[in-house]
Amino acid sequence: MHIRRLATVVPAAVLAALAAAPAHAADGPVYAGKGWKAFTSAGIYSISPDPYVIDFASTTARDRLAPALKRAAAQITAVTGVKVTVSSKLRPGARPSCSEAPRHVMTFHYKYRPTGKKGMSHAWPCTASVNGSAWGGAAAVNSEYWTTRHYFSKNSTTNRVRRDNVIIHELGHLFGLAHANTDRDRDGRVEGGECVQNSAGRKPVMCTPTGGYHTAANGGQYTTFDAPGLKQMRRNYDLR
Ligand SMILES: [Zn+2]
Repeated sequence: MHIRRLATVVPAAVLAALAAAPAHAADGPVYAGKGWKAFTSAGIYSISPDPYVIDFASTTARDRLAPALKRAAAQITAVTGVKVTVSSKLRPGARPSCSEAPRHVMTFHYKYRPTGKKGMSHAWPCTASVNGSAWGGAAAVNSEYWTTRHYFSKNSTTNRVRRDNVIIHELGHLFGLAHANTDRDRDGRVEGGECVQNSAGRKPVMCTPTGGYHTAANGGQYTTFDAPGLKQMRRNYDLR
């Protein structure tokens, strides 16, 4: 309902320009594109050029999550030019509040139903209050993906890459990407799975439920929808 009301007050010409303008042609910051959206509701408008570090709350978190996060970190660096590294150092203990969270550190936890809901993982992104860039924060990946056999698929490759897609989905939130879902069928509701898709039916990693590629070659990587969003978020830092 909120979205419908908003649409009526934004001039149609502005909406058309937002939809039509390719990200690289914009003179100012851009907060949404085809298949991606900035996490402005969490106060994140950009990615800083300063390096980020991903670390872990436990050895189990490190063992299970590091491989996927290392690939994702390399991809984010390739796409944005921002150095993102995965540290083997542990940062045990509970998740600090954002006011106490270390700058540019993203700590991954491995937990059974971190939000209390079956199948769900969660991210707690923080923002730099001075400029609205991604500050860091924490994410908790649900242990059910390992403890429940064939959680995502009976095909072991598909099972692994879909799990990797969820891990990097949470990382995407920490880097300031929100869910990419939009009201594509114009029924006034933004529903689960309501995201753009490619010709193979693959949706953005940042769709909810989590999208992404399902093949061994491309699974666990940000898609051609997500990657331009990450790139634009880095640009936004200079454009704001
Ligand atoms: Zn999400």
